[in-house]
Amino acid sequence: MADTTSPIEVVQHPFVFRLLEVRRSTWLTPGMVRVTLGGGALEGFRSDAADDGARLFFPPDPLDASWVPSVDGTSLVFPGERPPGREYSPRRYDPVAGELDFDFVVHGDGSASNWARNAVPGHYLGLSGPRRSRVVTGRVDWYLLAGDETAIPSIGRRLEMLAAGTPVFAVIEVADASEEQPLPTEANLNLTWLHRANVAANDTGQLARTLATLTLPDGDGFSWAAGEATAMRSVRRHWLDERGIPDTRMRVTGYWKRAIANYDHHLPLDE
Ligand SMILES: Cc1cc2nc3c(=O)[nH]c(=O)nc-3n(C[C@H](O)[C@H](O)[C@H](O)COP(=O)(O)OP(=O)(O)OC[C@H]3O[C@@H](n4cnc5c(N)ncnc54)[C@H](O)[C@@H]3O)c2cc1C
Repeated sequence: MADTTSPIEVVQHPFVFRLLEVRRSTWLTPGMVRVTLGGGALEGFRSDAADDGARLFFPPDPLDASWVPSVDGTSLVFPGERPPGREYSPRRYDPVAGELDFDFVVHGDGSASNWARNAVPGHYLGLSGPRRSRVVTGRVDWYLLAGDETAIPSIGRRLEMLAAGTPVFAVIEVADASEEQPLPTEANLNLTWLHRANVAANDTGQLARTLATLTLPDGDGFSWAAGEATAMRSVRRHWLDERGIPDTRMRVTGYWKRAIANYDHHLPLDE
């Protein structure tokens, strides 16, 4: 009988705001840039889980550091207009070097994407969070990971964290072959790359259709997916209705939604 116990333990972190400075930026693919941040404010930073989300704030003038908010409980009080904020996945934290990486998808037009496209050393950005980490503490016999480019930072980090030999199935949809990235791991990885270039522009079902073709091992897994919200809705329905994966052993999140700016990832996917 399937184990319906959640393998996840939630760890809370103190609510802190940090003003960070760009140290360098490195293009990973034509559409994704890694921005390495530093600064004394990183001291005490914590991110315990691969799918942590931190809120980044993008000042309209990236050289301006005068907008730093004060913290009132779990609220940020800005001296003037609140700069746009978006969620991103801490990709790598090196406390010794005092460096933190975020990998940004650079797409058409958005506060975060525009900031990342132009990031150079000396530019500022604000960070609050992660507020909490969902740490895997229970038994997981295998992992199933899926998503689009925005999920790659989390998937890549998880693959680096997993113990040697852990069975992992990953299905990742990117624009085309130029957006595929090396994902080093000691896990036993079965990875499928999908290309949006191969399907119609409005086809959001390619991920779910491919996931449906996988033969998963026996035992109790943990299934995780993130990406465009309509595509994630299909993935979640497939896992719940067709695979019978217990809700407690999956996490599916809409990280963004077509034609919606600043999409709220807390919205239920079924609405
Ligand atoms: C917990 C969490 C972690 C995340 N981690 C990452 C991460 O590590 N790296 C990352 O790149 N993203 C990540 N995202 C997704 C990112 O927050 C969104 O893509 C965000 O909307 C980008 O903000 P923006 O200001 O560039 O665009 P917005 O102002 O939000 O949107 C402007 C327009 O761009 C479109 N758009 C937004 N994102 C994309 C996209 N990726 N591709 C194509 N069109 C888009 C919107 O539909 C809208 O039409 C994460 C989201 C969450 C909730």
